[in-house]
Amino acid sequence: MLAANLITELKKIVGGQNILTSKEDMTTYSYDGTAFWSHMPDVVVLPTSAEEISRIMKLANREQIPVTPRGGGTNISGGSVPIKGGIVLCTTRMNRILEINKTNLTVTAECGVVLQDLNLALAKEKLFFPPDPQSFFACTLGGNAAENAGGPYCVKYGVFKQYLLGMEVVLADGTIMKLGGLTAKNRTGYELMMLMTGSEGTLGIITKMNLKVIPAPPAAQTVLAIFDDIGQGIQAVPNIMDAGIIPAKVEFVDNFILGRIEDLFKLGLPKDAQVLLMLQVDGSPAGVATETEQMVEILKKSGARLIKPAKDAQESAFFWKARSGGFAAIYSSARTVFAEDVTVPRDKLVVFLKRLSEITKETGIDINIIGHAGDGNLHPSVGTDPRDKEHFARAMDTIDRIINMALELGGVLSGEHGVGLDKQRFLKRAMDPAAVELMKKIKAILDPNNILNPGKIWEEEAKDGG
Ligand SMILES: Cc1cc2nc3c(=O)[nH]c(=O)nc-3n(C[C@H](O)[C@H](O)[C@H](O)COP(=O)(O)OP(=O)(O)OC[C@H]3O[C@@H](n4cnc5c(N)ncnc54)[C@H](O)[C@@H]3O)c2cc1C
Repeated sequence: MLAANLITELKKIVGGQNILTSKEDMTTYSYDGTAFWSHMPDVVVLPTSAEEISRIMKLANREQIPVTPRGGGTNISGGSVPIKGGIVLCTTRMNRILEINKTNLTVTAECGVVLQDLNLALAKEKLFFPPDPQSFFACTLGGNAAENAGGPYCVKYGVFKQYLLGMEVVLADGTIMKLGGLTAKNRTGYELMMLMTGSEGTLGIITKMNLKVIPAPPAAQTVLAIFDDIGQGIQAVPNIMDAGIIPAKVEFVDNFILGRIEDLFKLGLPKDAQVLLMLQVDGSPAGVATETEQMVEILKKSGARLIKPAKDAQESAFFWKARSGGFAAIYSSARTVFAEDVTVPRDKLVVFLKRLSEITKETGIDINIIGHAGDGNLHPSVGTDPRDKEHFARAMDTIDRIINMALELGGVLSGEHGVGLDKQRFLKRAMDPAAVELMKKIKAILDPNNILNPGKIWEEEAKDGG
């Protein structure tokens, strides 16, 4: 618990209306999208400017109070859980889009802007910001930058870091620092902005950013393809890429999630099918027509049982709404779900899926899969119940095997969700120890009192069994 005088000091900084101290209010900020990790904060502050954040950080640094930055709290690695208590610094009241510049193709926005609000504002200007984590209705730009978020569009358009031009950050000691700018090119000094990107709230609080946007593609076509065979379904993805087509999105849905989606959205898909691929090509109308034709041909040759192009933009939007419900299907399938984030090179997807089914046979634990097939980022998910110790142990063993297998295939531990609390026990296996040591040194320079999101990324690695 924080001393009363410190709460009073915080109230002076942000105002009484921007501070939460009751158990009922703070419970909402004690967990995130993982539904496994939770810890109560001592206080929640909702600042409205970088200057307020600077004053909060000066106070926290002086008193050595842990500060957990938080945007929408949608992250699925435990990153926004205040595991050491202290202050949750939630940015959702810093939610102004400050400028959309059509000549520069840039947008300047505060960190608490919800991604969907940005998308709606850009759509009015016929502009497009591609990174699309499927939590877009609730996640914030600050959280997206701190996780270097991805999503379905990233197969063609890249992840969040590829759109960052400039950034304002508040450091652990309260310094307000500006990085980058508004230009497409900038080779001035070290890429400190990239250091902040993906740093999961451990190095600074991102308060404002300049993002690159692009003109919205004039045409797009969504195609659904159903396969009876998992191997054929996933092989279709490299087949399409090998033909020189880079779809805007290539999403993979397994039989279990397909069934759930069909129950809810009634897309007219056969529930006995093993794989649903959801693809989209975009660009000029003529290019889209040609690529759709080529893609459909490749899908047929790859063994698709049913191919269903969207009739129009409305049906296409409905298909993608169904896709974004896929994670809800997974999360409602068990008390606790671990949505893994391993990512493998595209040419290893077929063997990756084959090995997943072997792991299920070995451990007796089902693995559900929905994810970004075009990126090799398939999110194998394991459902369990920590109260059932025997099942939980087998689920943990299953996760262990999935991660080892993905690393053996030349993959990575996390494609887009970050390490947070969830994956730190695997860090030693997944990263060069020299790189981990360098990260720790950087952290010690920027945050010598270890107050920014302490307990995240590596501090629990002593528990690593591997
Ligand atoms: C249904 C669902 C679907 C998802 N789909 C995707 C997906 O397709 N792709 C993907 O990449 N992710 C996905 N995610 C994960 C998550 O939504 C993203 O990581 C998102 O970027 C988190 O944003 P947020 O605002 O909710 O951040 P939070 O969860 O609040 O925080 C995430 C991390 O960033 C830190 N942080 C937050 N704000 C700041 C700030 N201003 N400055 C510094 N650090 C900060 C926090 O401390 C924490 O470590 C999904 C999650 C859910 C629940």
